[in-house]
Amino acid sequence: MTDRYAVIGNPIEQSKSPLIHTAFAQVTGQDIDYTRVLGPLGGFAQTVDAFRAEGGKGMNVTAPFKLDAFAYATDLAPSAQMAGAVNAMKFEGDKVYAENFDGVGLVRDVVHNLGCPLNGKRVLILGAGGATRGALLPLLAEQPAEVVIANRTVAKARELAALAQQHQSGAVPVHGVGYEDVQGAFDVVLNATSASLIAQLPPLSVTAFSSGCLAYDLTYGKGLTPFLRLAQEAGVTHLVDGVGMLVEQAAEAFAWWRGVRPETAAVIAQITVPLV
Ligand code: NDP
Repeated sequence: MTDRYAVIGNPIEQSKSPLIHTAFAQVTGQDIDYTRVLGPLGGFAQTVDAFRAEGGKGMNVTAPFKLDAFAYATDLAPSAQMAGAVNAMKFEGDKVYAENFDGVGLVRDVVHNLGCPLNGKRVLILGAGGATRGALLPLLAEQPAEVVIANRTVAKARELAALAQQHQSGAVPVHGVGYEDVQGAFDVVLNATSASLIAQLPPLSVTAFSSGCLAYDLTYGKGLTPFLRLAQEAGVTHLVDGVGMLVEQAAEAFAWWRGVRPETAAVIAQITVPLV
């Protein structure tokens, strides 16, 4: 019998999740049907209730419902607790198991796909929203030398740095700062702000990029964003957008639901938009 899954968001037409999961199902031989669900604003719980009542097995969650899903879940994984947000749910009877695979997807893309180990590296992450919250624990598990979070609203960066320090007992130093207080050059600079969605640039100095730096914009499908352009001007040649992260978080959800991890390289290649 075909098992049903879906992604819920508003808007939802832009979501690549059906394409990605359908490709995964083909390569792994899994019998699933994966669709888009437009959730009415203020109507998340009723929409998910209806999907479950029709036999739905699981859902991915995208904007603006990641916090609604957090409230809806009965069992939150540590990744979802740290992120304060949920991007994947699994339904079993009355139980709603909830995860946040964004961070693990990001780290898998950086370390495994891009061949850039984070161990011992200085890592700068721009932004202190949901994506940064989700990324912190998986990043820290790689034992970088230091993580600096820079944000426009400095209090949010500081708060998140303190939370991350608490979670890993201070093993890796984590600092929250404003852009003007970013000191020195970094091996990896991750843009987890939403500035690229509207072609804006966080006020980052070019001196933040080391010569062999990886510059990674979590926003995907926007070509050479102002952030990636800044990195290029600083001499960085390793410029990447977040399409690999998107596919890797999907692969984590697929493995969690189906017990089999799909190959991701072909799907990443299929949906990559060249950085020109
Ligand atoms: P949030 O809305 O939770 O956070 C947005 C962050 O961006 C805040 O820290 C905000 O700063 C900062 N920001 C927004 N505009 C600017 C600006 N003009 N200059 C400087 N900082 C700015 O968003 P998310 O964390 O959920 O998402 C961030 C990005 O990551 C999005 O572009 C999203 O598409 C991408 N993403 C990609 C994924 C993938 O799979 N590749 C998965 C998840 C997210 P302040 O706090 O001061 O307002």
